[in-house]
This record gives sequence, structure tokens and C-alpha cells, in this order.
Amino acid sequence: MDFRLSDEQRDFVDSVRGFARSKLDGFAAAVDGLPRETIRQVAGQGLAGITIAEADGGQGASLIDAVLAIEAMAQHSAHGADSLQVLNFGAIQQIARHGNDDHKARYLSGCLTGELVPAIAMTEPGAGSALTEMTTSAKLEGDHVVLDGQKIFSTNGDSADVFVVWARFGPGSKGAGAVLVERGTPGFEVDSSHRFMSREPYGTLFFDACRVPVENVLVAEDGFRRMLAVFNVERMGNASRSLGYGQAAFDMAAEYTKDRRAFGRRLVDFQGLQWKFAEMALKLESARLLLYRACTNADAGLPSALESSLAKVACNRAGFEVVNEALQMFGGYGYEEESPLSYMLQRTRGWQIAGGTTEQLLNRIAEGALGERFSQRPPRPVEAAT
Ligand SMILES: Cc1cc2nc3c(=O)[nH]c(=O)nc-3n(C[C@H](O)[C@H](O)[C@H](O)COP(=O)(O)OP(=O)(O)OC[C@H]3O[C@@H](n4cnc5c(N)ncnc54)[C@H](O)[C@@H]3O)c2cc1C
Repeated sequence: MDFRLSDEQRDFVDSVRGFARSKLDGFAAAVDGLPRETIRQVAGQGLAGITIAEADGGQGASLIDAVLAIEAMAQHSAHGADSLQVLNFGAIQQIARHGNDDHKARYLSGCLTGELVPAIAMTEPGAGSALTEMTTSAKLEGDHVVLDGQKIFSTNGDSADVFVVWARFGPGSKGAGAVLVERGTPGFEVDSSHRFMSREPYGTLFFDACRVPVENVLVAEDGFRRMLAVFNVERMGNASRSLGYGQAAFDMAAEYTKDRRAFGRRLVDFQGLQWKFAEMALKLESARLLLYRACTNADAGLPSALESSLAKVACNRAGFEVVNEALQMFGGYGYEEESPLSYMLQRTRGWQIAGGTTEQLLNRIAEGALGERFSQRPPRPVEAAT
């Protein structure tokens, strides 16, 4: 067991930091969506498809490298970290892992340069945590698949070019699959008028007899099992950004309290605040260890459900709680609308819901810790004794 980064990993992290500091903006809200220019810049820096095979246009590196990059980026640039997420963790992983050569040529290569922005469309108004209740249907008709239904909360969906749309090809847990749908396909409408609390726009998607060529079917059956394994990778991007924001907030508060004075002393000289810093460091360090463990143990780049759940919950909590404490240390200046901490608080709050809510993941952790599966469905009525 070795808890130290290698020299190469340290150099890599330094180079990501240097790039973020010198070329990208800090923590401004993406009011008009994630800037395309930033996605292309980050891709141009060789930070796209870090874990994707070189044969498919990626860098062929490990999950821990991708996580180190996004954690470092998230300490300096919100748009940079979101770009890294798009270029490495979400829909792009689903296309890389499940796509055939044709999908990779038509979509993956463009996603890796930032020319195409992909988005995930899973959640429906009536199916969030209980994703198996989704009703969007995919019916095969000759050489097309016809989609009907609605999706909500698609990150970057306001402007994305291609969507990994989860839909039902048949009943039951084996009946789910996924289809690649291009923006502009007849029968597919995107409402981009809604925003999250953080001011990020998201997409609400409507499919009305939307005909997509059958070649665009990414997964035709057993989609929940196949896609959710890849989804644990997405969770690592979410967790790393939470952790990076938490570390950034810690650093901002440390600098501020060493300068700002009250009662004739520096703020940092008050033990009440020193203990807050100690608690913040404890949260960040323990979350970081769980995150790095999930990534270094990842089998073929896919972290286990249990380790990724532990890592995501710990990083999400650490990020949000540390940002919140840092904001408190800035007093009224932390609560100003322009304060980066105000934006960071909103983002770290959202990550506790996105990519598997804390409660859903606690259910998974309980199962792992207790060695038992617990159905979340209501118990079946007991048969009357005869
Ligand atoms: C910032 C952000 C980005 C997102 N990006 C995307 C995206 O790109 N693509 C996409 O498809 N979706 C996305 N989502 C949607 C997200 O995946 C869902 O919001 C999430 O799965 C929860 O579903 P829901 O909102 O319907 O809540 P519900 O499922 O209605 O849950 C409501 C509450 O009940 C709790 N709960 C539910 N079941 C249980 C249980 N069994 N035990 C204990 N508690 C339970 C939940 O944890 C939650 O607190 C995003 C959401 C956010 C906030």
C-alpha cells in the first residue's frame, strides 16, 4: 500500500493547475451554459478521454489520473472542471464503453475534440431515484427505432449535440436500453428555459414519435446493469469536483483568515476558527482517501458500486460542508452574490442529488456493510394462510 502520488502524477497535477490558473476563468456561474470554447481548450490540452483507449482516440491512462486532473482543475476553474467532466466521465464513457466502431467514428471522435457535446438523458418526471420506473419507450420499426416520452434535468442538455437517451425496449429490468439521438432529429424537442439553483441551464427533452436510425441503438437490452456499471465512473467525476471545490474553499478561507483582523488579532489566531480548519481538513483528507481507493481498485477502469458510493457520499459531504464553513469565515463577504463561495455552495449542494442521491448511495453502502440486499419496494401482501 502506497499513499503517495508518483513523480509523474505530481507533475501532471501541477501542469493541470498551471493551465487552469493561467488560461481559464475561476468560479463564475455558467449562466449561458458551459462555454464551448473552454471545452475545446481543455481538450486541446490533452485532457480529453484520459481513461479511454488510445485506439479509440483517448489517452489510455488510468481512472486515478482522470480523477487527479479533475480534482486539480476544480480547485481553480468551474468551467474547466465541468469541461473535464464532459470530456471524460459522463455520456462520453457510455459511448466509449458500449459503442461500436460506427458510433465511435460518428460521435466519440467529435466528443473527444470538444466539437460535439454529449449529454445523458435518464431521469424522467416520474422516474428519478427509481429509474426502473422510466416509461420512455423505444419501439423497433423496420430500420428505425421510435422514441416516445420525456426526460428532465439533462446537464448540458440545453446545448448538447448528441444525447444518450435511456428508454424501454421491453418490460422489466432487462428491457431497458439506450439510443444515441442527435439534436434536431424530427420529433425531438429540447426546452432549455429552466435552470438549476446554480444558474446552470439544463435540458427538458420531449420525444414524440421520434424516429432514429436503428444503427444508433447503443444498448438494446439489459441496459440497467450494463449502464450502471459505467455510471460509477460518472460518480467519480462528480465526487472529484466536490472535493476540489472543498479544497479550493479551504485554501481561500486560510488565506483570508491570515489577513483579516478582528479584536486586534488575525482571524486565524482564534482557536474557534483553528478547530474549524482542523475539522475541514479531516473531512477533505478522509474523503480523498476513499476517492483514491475507489479509483485505484477500479477493475478495468470501473470502480465497484460500494467503493464508489462511499467515495461519492464522503466527497459530496466534505465539499458542501467545507464550502459552507469557509463561507461563514468570510462573514458578510462570503454571502455576497458575487462571492465565489456562494456559487460553490450551490454547486456542491447539487452534486448531493446528481449522479445518485446521497440516500440512494447510503442504501447501497448499508447493503455492502451488512452483506444483504434490501428491496426498496413495498413488501408483497402475505398470502392468507389456508
Ligand atoms: C445538478 C444536477 C444534475 C443532474 N444531471 C442529470 C443528467 O445529466 N441526466 C439525468 O438524466 N439526470 C440528471 N439529474 C437528475 C438526478 O439524477 C435526479 O434528480 C436524481 O436521480 C433524483 O431523482 P428525483 O429528482 O426524481 O428525486 P426522487 O427520486 O423523487 O427522490 C426525492 C428524495 O427522496 C429520496 N429517496 C428516493 N428513494 C429513496 C429510498 N429508497 N431511500 C431513501 N431515500 C430515497 C431521494 O434521495 C431524494 O432525496 C441531475 C440532477 C441535478 C440536481
